[in-house]
Amino acid sequence: MLSVGVDLGGHTISAALVERKGETARMLSRADRETPGSRGLDEVVQIIAGMVDEVSQGRQISFVGIGIPGFLDKTRRKITRLTNFSGLENVYFLEHLAPALNRRGLSPLIGMENDANCSAVGEAFCGAAKGCRDFIVLTLGTGIGSGIFVNGGLLTGAHGMAGESGHMTISGKSDMSCGCGSAGHLETIASADYIERGARQEGLPPNFRLLWNMRDDKRADALISNALDALAGGIASLVVVLDPEKIILSGGMSKAEGLAEEVRARTLRWLPLPLREQLRIEASALGTEAALYGAASISMLER
Ligand SMILES: [Zn+2]
Repeated sequence: MLSVGVDLGGHTISAALVERKGETARMLSRADRETPGSRGLDEVVQIIAGMVDEVSQGRQISFVGIGIPGFLDKTRRKITRLTNFSGLENVYFLEHLAPALNRRGLSPLIGMENDANCSAVGEAFCGAAKGCRDFIVLTLGTGIGSGIFVNGGLLTGAHGMAGESGHMTISGKSDMSCGCGSAGHLETIASADYIERGARQEGLPPNFRLLWNMRDDKRADALISNALDALAGGIASLVVVLDPEKIILSGGMSKAEGLAEEVRARTLRWLPLPLREQLRIEASALGTEAALYGAASISMLER
């Protein structure tokens, strides 16, 4: 089966042609484009349709899945709110994409899913969560997303919006307004964007990976420590509620060497004793490819 996964990001749009044979999947081609500054509906739709056409290389594709960075309605037809991306809210996105694909002679089934959920699906089918029935993927980047599997199935909730761990309130840690329309949420303390904003104010390089490598500087260490403590508090709360087999860290921040070990050490402090020993936190080996594999595979989810 040939399908295309698309990851709509705030900075980059990626698309990949994925071939699945039984239990194995491989990426046959991939394209990346800068997200247009306008972030307007028509422009985004045309770019995605063009990229699907490009990576398909004239081959017959049966499914196109789109990873969306925000809240979707329960039916996965309407984008409800994009936290770090404006211009596509309250839009029945697939109803715009289908005719754009048709005009290029493409008529696959199409679907969409929250981007962090796509990463979790990718890890489940092709990555570190293969064989796991209960796990959490945290995407640490522009914002903080998460995808959660419980009893072997993707957790979506009563209204389709479960698993938005970046919008958990970490009491007393922040009162900053959040892209979701509320305030004081985990991603306003621990996402790369907010850490880098803090670095800019301190006259430090606004780049998480650089800051991570200069933790011998007290100011850099304080910024990172504050963020990781909040992240660890959020993870500890998720663990006591969900008791996962493992937590997989994905997204740009997760590439910092030793981050998973550092987050694990900080998380342990807040866990009840019976949950400490089996706490497993690891960095994704698939990286950004997880969201593409996952988006290409969402048609295989049991809903
Ligand atoms: Zn929020």
